[in-house]
Amino acid sequence: MKHVPLLINGEFKNSDATQHIDVTNPANNEVIAQAPCATEDEISQAIASAKTAFETWKDVPVTERARLMMRYQALLKEHQKDIAETLAQETGKTFDDAMGDVWRGIEVVEQAMNVPSLMMGETAENVARGIDTYSYTQPLGVCAGITPFNFPAMIPLWMFPLAIACGNTFVLKPSEQDPLTPVRLAELFKEAGAPDGVLNVIHGGKEQVEPLLTHPDIKAVSFVGSVPVGQHIYRTATAHMKRAQCFAGAKNHTVIMPDANKEHVLNNLVGASVGAAGQRCMAISVAVFVGEAQQWIPELAERIKAVKPGPWDQKESAYGPVISPQAKERVLRLIDSGKQQGATCLVDGSDFTVEGYENGNWIGPTVFSDVTDEMDIYKEEIFGPVLSIMNADSLDDALTLVNNNPYGNGTSIFTSNGAAARKYQHEVTVGQVGINIPIPVPLPFFSFTGWKNSFFGDLHAYGKQAIRFYSETKTITSRWLEDDIPGGPNMTISLG
Ligand code: NAD
Repeated sequence: MKHVPLLINGEFKNSDATQHIDVTNPANNEVIAQAPCATEDEISQAIASAKTAFETWKDVPVTERARLMMRYQALLKEHQKDIAETLAQETGKTFDDAMGDVWRGIEVVEQAMNVPSLMMGETAENVARGIDTYSYTQPLGVCAGITPFNFPAMIPLWMFPLAIACGNTFVLKPSEQDPLTPVRLAELFKEAGAPDGVLNVIHGGKEQVEPLLTHPDIKAVSFVGSVPVGQHIYRTATAHMKRAQCFAGAKNHTVIMPDANKEHVLNNLVGASVGAAGQRCMAISVAVFVGEAQQWIPELAERIKAVKPGPWDQKESAYGPVISPQAKERVLRLIDSGKQQGATCLVDGSDFTVEGYENGNWIGPTVFSDVTDEMDIYKEEIFGPVLSIMNADSLDDALTLVNNNPYGNGTSIFTSNGAAARKYQHEVTVGQVGINIPIPVPLPFFSFTGWKNSFFGDLHAYGKQAIRFYSETKTITSRWLEDDIPGGPNMTISLG
């Protein structure tokens, strides 16, 4: 049995853990590796090694830190396919989707290569006579990252490259469900020349996360995952006086106006709703058809019905299984609740299997219409290949629905009317908005800006906001005298 190694102080080593978690292939539930639940001592060693490494890493010139990212980016590109294969095996994602997961992480590393200009401060000359003020950006210390199962390449890469490029050191606790991909990312980081202790990786679940939230040497915590865990992590980390950014669950609506391009809408909605088995925090899980656009619903259902899941290495597979039998059970429970609570099940994927992979966590594409905001399939994040369809009489009604929803990760509108699009983008209380784009995930020179229950904190992932999250600003006010200060002591707070 393959044991997933820890990375502590530059060394990949097997844990002394007595408890292990099976890492499975979700297409057949065969165990492919075991992840250890790192011991208290190992977690302390990881934090201590990051603390020691910080003492030297913080003084490594920013240009050298950027060059580490350049070498890392090149290695990730060179190994994109083999990382994607590992990723596909442990998540069940199709190979093409796995390649996309790695690619979106590589783009963040490209952003980290720009760190010299991103870390530049501000200057103002002669703020008072002979006095100049300027600011520098300096790293915080040891940062921690806790990541979910659904993007095991992209989401760790949202975190450690930018934190480390800023001069921090890092302890990563990836999802216990697919830790092989993050370990591969760490191997390549070491190969790129990362000094020992700059990146450490520990494994496990809740118990292994707690010390990262309470240890005095951890200065900032980045988390991506579900709402209850995000709230717990935000509360605990901030109660221990740490900076925290917690990206959480979602319920993303798309609004379809009757003046939209029908073909464009239908083509986009199929992939955005059931692609990746709906296990994307930016998946479209609710489609709101306004007025006459409701006539397109039967055709959308037909197209979604034609989508066939399958194993990652078969070209014709549109998406893979969900991550675990527990995840499958949760999605099936919600599908059943939709039927019980009066929604119309236009496409039912609850009894679905793939020949030769009967033990896998398969769920066929599922579509409900006549969904109301009282139903569990609307209120809960399903995180499966299930689209809920709702009706609205007007754009105003659709906006009220979306704005009343407690989540605020992403939303989109399909329309050919600029005024409708402008109204929607301005009034919607969601942090990422697509106009004729179903899944509006910004590229890393912007930030990933979820709102409401989809994000706890203030500074978001990547872009300029991540640089601010992973650094302190030091502001210096200086006077270099040519002569003695005229007059006596200055007893006021003024500079001049
Ligand atoms: P999860 O919350 O179960 O787990 C996330 C991480 O937290 C894992 O590393 C896990 O080991 C750890 N964890 C789990 N329970 C914990 C506890 N009680 N205390 C401390 N740590 C704990 O999430 P998941 O199932 O891996 O991922 C799916 C969720 O992530 C979905 O809700 C999805 O919307 C969300 N997500 C959000 C974004 C975003 O940017 N907003 C992106 C991707 C995924």
